[in-house]
Amino acid sequence: MNQPQNIKYVVKNGLCIGCGVCKTACPHKAIKMIYNDDNGMIFPIIDEKICNGCRICLDVCYGFKVDHELNLRIFHDLPNSIIGNYTEAYIGFTTDQALRFNSTSGGVTTALLIHALEEKLIDGAIVTKMEASNPPRAKAFIATTTKEILSATGSKYCPVSLAECLEAVENDKRYAVVGLPCHIYGIRKLVEFSPKIRNSIRLYLGILCGGMPSYLGTQYLLKAYGMEKQHIKRLEYRGGGWPGRLFIQSESSCQQKEISISYPEYWQGTFGYFFPYRCTVCHDGFNEFSDISCGDAWLPHIMEKDKEGTSLIITRTKIGEHLVQTAFQKGYIHITPIESQDIIQSQRGLVQSKNLTLRARINLSKIIRRTLPTFDLSRTPPANLTSYMSAIELYIGNAMASRKSLWWLFDTYISSIRTIGHFISRFKRHESHRI
Ligand SMILES: Cc1cc2nc3c(=O)[nH]c(=O)nc-3n(C[C@H](O)[C@H](O)[C@H](O)COP(=O)(O)OP(=O)(O)OC[C@H]3O[C@@H](n4cnc5c(N)ncnc54)[C@H](O)[C@@H]3O)c2cc1C
Ligand code: SF4
Ligand code: SF4
Repeated sequence: MNQPQNIKYVVKNGLCIGCGVCKTACPHKAIKMIYNDDNGMIFPIIDEKICNGCRICLDVCYGFKVDHELNLRIFHDLPNSIIGNYTEAYIGFTTDQALRFNSTSGGVTTALLIHALEEKLIDGAIVTKMEASNPPRAKAFIATTTKEILSATGSKYCPVSLAECLEAVENDKRYAVVGLPCHIYGIRKLVEFSPKIRNSIRLYLGILCGGMPSYLGTQYLLKAYGMEKQHIKRLEYRGGGWPGRLFIQSESSCQQKEISISYPEYWQGTFGYFFPYRCTVCHDGFNEFSDISCGDAWLPHIMEKDKEGTSLIITRTKIGEHLVQTAFQKGYIHITPIESQDIIQSQRGLVQSKNLTLRARINLSKIIRRTLPTFDLSRTPPANLTSYMSAIELYIGNAMASRKSLWWLFDTYISSIRTIGHFISRFKRHESHRI
């Protein structure tokens, strides 16, 4: 097979997640990012007349290939666990009560950015907020004040291109960036080609990622809850305590409406079917190339009593550990050290999807001749029958969810899956009583 010349190959094979790093990387400015409402994704288009096949776009693209030796260049070691290279781990939360309540988990990501800005360690931060004039859409921007950083609090479960921000950074200024594992990987690779990015991006704050639904996920929820896209005034995927809720406010000439649905209720059984193909074959849930990774502290003793939110914090570099320690000493965050097994325990779902069941989806993709990204699978355990069944179930649901014309069938599909799920759990309970 001929070597792919540019990221057209990535898009054609469904491996693009719309991070936008290739656009910034292209030295010939041959790439534009566009939004496609039919599949709810942002993706690059290439001007073939300008592209000279230098392949730099492919070099930085997480969708195409993961260069695991990047670990050696950043951490001087290959990771020996599924968490990636790390120095310390904590659970914690911001000391700002309002932020803790409005953030996704414990608000540590936002608190660390505010600390870095107020201590003049950075001049700005690349963060993502909902578009004020078009709330179902999210947009990355460069925040240069505490107020702007606070406006970006909260997870956006949709694709986000960082291209515009990466192009807007100034050579003599220092920035932090917040991103998903694929964003952070792409920027770490971009540093190897762009002196400007190398000089200016000083801090990588990664958020854990079990998968990113396309905008079709949000559109499907709007339809399910009887909300019209053009009437949406406010949309928040998390916040309002922990684990939080989806909050949507709509306003038309004849009606005002608000809905609030708990995070577990809208995610489980629906949202996961809207992942683009690349997310279904992604191995990095812990954001292993970041300086600090933050996620939800899904630990039983925390979940039992915490209604405000607690973050899981993994530090990976000296810069990351130093920032967490100084933020703690200066009173921005509260932290408690935890062990590596607590990280795994708090992220059972993530470990399940990004490690334990990944091989089945990879094998199934090979069988149906889908193109796979190149990455090291040596830490991925073999597939078993249950993981094959869940992979088949996911891809069937995914095929329906990704075509708006099949949503009527998808409705029936997910309600059948839920019924079967209830039946299986009742059966299991019954069997355990007999024991
Ligand atoms: C698609 C997605 C999947 C996730 N999956 C998991 C998971 O499986 N397990 C888990 O523990 N945590 C997951 N998270 C992370 C979790 O939702 C929180 O983002 C994380 O715990 C940080 O919380 P916080 O309170 O510290 O962040 P906050 O203080 O609320 O700040 C969140 C920061 O994330 C940035 N951000 C939000 N959405 C995006 C986005 N789409 N792209 C780039 N930057 C963004 C914002 O700009 C903001 O700076 C996921 C997040 C996303 C967006
Ligand atoms: S770099 Fe990002 S936007 Fe570009 S092709 Fe790869 S995944 Fe898509
Ligand atoms: S699952 Fe992987 S590819 Fe998908 S958004 Fe998360 S990190 Fe990126």
